[in-house]
Amino acid sequence: MHRPEGDTVSEMAAPRRNEGVAQRSDEEYVLEGIGVSPGIAIGPVYLYARDAYEVEKRRLAEEEVAEELERFERAVARAERDLNKIILVTREKLGEHSADIFEAQLLMLRDEALYGAVRRFIEEKRCNADYAVKVVIDKYRRQLEAGGTEYLRERANDLLDVQERIIRHLRRGKLLSAIDPASIVVAENLTAADVVLFSRRGILGCALDYGGPTSHVSIMARALGVPAVVSMHSVTEHVRTGDLIILDGIRGRVIVNPSGETLEAYRTRQERYQRLLQEDKQLVPLPAETLDGHRVALLANLEFYEELPLLQEYGAEGIGLFRTEILFLVRGSVEISEDTQYEVYRKVVEAVRPGVTTFRVFDLGGDKLLPMAHREHNPFLGWRGIRVLLDRPELLRPQVRAILRAGAHGPVRILLPMVTALSEVRRFRAHLREAADSLRAEGHDLDGEVPVGIMIEVPSVAMQADLFAAEADFFSIGTNDLTQYVLAVDRGNDLVAGLYADLHPAVLMLVDRAVKAGHRQGIPVSLCGELATNPRAIPILVGLGLDELSASPVYLPGIKRIIRAMKRSEGVALARMAMNAASEEAIRENLDHWLDEHACGTAYFLDRAAPSGS
Ligand code: PEP
Ligand code: MG
Repeated sequence: MHRPEGDTVSEMAAPRRNEGVAQRSDEEYVLEGIGVSPGIAIGPVYLYARDAYEVEKRRLAEEEVAEELERFERAVARAERDLNKIILVTREKLGEHSADIFEAQLLMLRDEALYGAVRRFIEEKRCNADYAVKVVIDKYRRQLEAGGTEYLRERANDLLDVQERIIRHLRRGKLLSAIDPASIVVAENLTAADVVLFSRRGILGCALDYGGPTSHVSIMARALGVPAVVSMHSVTEHVRTGDLIILDGIRGRVIVNPSGETLEAYRTRQERYQRLLQEDKQLVPLPAETLDGHRVALLANLEFYEELPLLQEYGAEGIGLFRTEILFLVRGSVEISEDTQYEVYRKVVEAVRPGVTTFRVFDLGGDKLLPMAHREHNPFLGWRGIRVLLDRPELLRPQVRAILRAGAHGPVRILLPMVTALSEVRRFRAHLREAADSLRAEGHDLDGEVPVGIMIEVPSVAMQADLFAAEADFFSIGTNDLTQYVLAVDRGNDLVAGLYADLHPAVLMLVDRAVKAGHRQGIPVSLCGELATNPRAIPILVGLGLDELSASPVYLPGIKRIIRAMKRSEGVALARMAMNAASEEAIRENLDHWLDEHACGTAYFLDRAAPSGS
């Protein structure tokens, strides 16, 4: 993610962002964060506190009873859907009888003694469903607990689960309907699912205390076009529901109590952004080609199935990076059967063809959950990516087989994360051959060879790129990790975020080395790190000769605008300048100048297009 201008080491090194800002003054003040989904929102706050719910009794008017019964019915139906899903996954992972507890809970949901009793309670006492569920189920729980046997106590526990599940669903509906669609949600944190629900209600944006550019919530907000600022540390302490704020997802800031003048300036900025966005979108049918005819392929980074329609909307030519681990981790585990994986991959491939889908095999470890409980002192230097998969073939095999099977429906590539040794590529290829042989023996019709590429994320691999190029079918440069390893700056650590210089000359030199090595071997070289979303980087990356750039779809039209405004030869000169620069600041200055001159008014680069700061 491109960082907003003005982030300095001293600002970023503060132990808690926005700590020194006066709390709840009536004056206008600015809270800083990281802009993770571009756009500008102006509106009232809805302060979302997920666990602040208590079951209270509410008396209903007679005409409200039918609606309340329906609300209860919807919550039970949702709870049923939850449990059915849990039963399926549990059976698959742990065997037929392991799901008995959940099946019992499923039966309880519709048990006349419960379901019927709650309905009668709502009708007779004319009270809200949440209260009825609490009272009725509490009564049965007490009876079971009083029975004294272990068995009955366990059933009482099951009832508690059922009660919480229904109330959670009732509460969700209630919270959702309480949110004014024209508000900006402010919360400590949200899940990806929350963002989906909120965006369906039409919220204007969201500001969070936690989260980073690559956290699920950020990725989802980007995918759904909801402007978002994360990592604000204390935004929830500064605002209350109903306060008017401005959220700037481009600069990564929230303005509390904006003055009339500021509001006016931001309304202009908002209109300008919308106009530029529309202009950018007009480029969707056009190729990403420089003025002197050099083509670069623009592909999409994808994590969620829901993002697929964005490929067409923003003109992606295929998927350059499918982070498969995220897709499955949001469902709770990567230990998913081959058939389930195949179904998902096949749908993706069918939606993307004739474009290619690049499936990166599970990249576990680092900051991503591991399938087995495992603690490390230095997880980013530990059991990560391909290392985990080669040690755990029971995870690798079903995934490789599922990808190969999906490959029968359209073009696919396989990408290996965190490669550090040639032997890893060779061992992976052996697994791939074995999987292909066994599938053919089972009668599957496989389409030719599936290209196997490696992520260039580790400096040693970039240094020895010639060796790796001889054994890989393509390279994909992961600058998010490469930068953290080259500069010794943890990509997720706020305290050193100001040192995370994505345009650092040393990083660019390694990109250059990898591109040249790839081209000497005749293999395509892609770049899929967030560097590709930094407008200042685009002319340099084109100059370095990257064949493909892969980024969240929403950024692709802006990237294209810059490519179409430049000559390849200018890029080559800028790349040379950048690699010889003494610091990242010098590169920034040069590129800002270049972008101003070439009038690259992309929507996402609004600040360059409107230097007045409006
Ligand atoms: C990268 O490291 O640049 C990359 C694309 O992989 P991830 O962000 O998933 O670690
Ligand atoms: Mg990476």
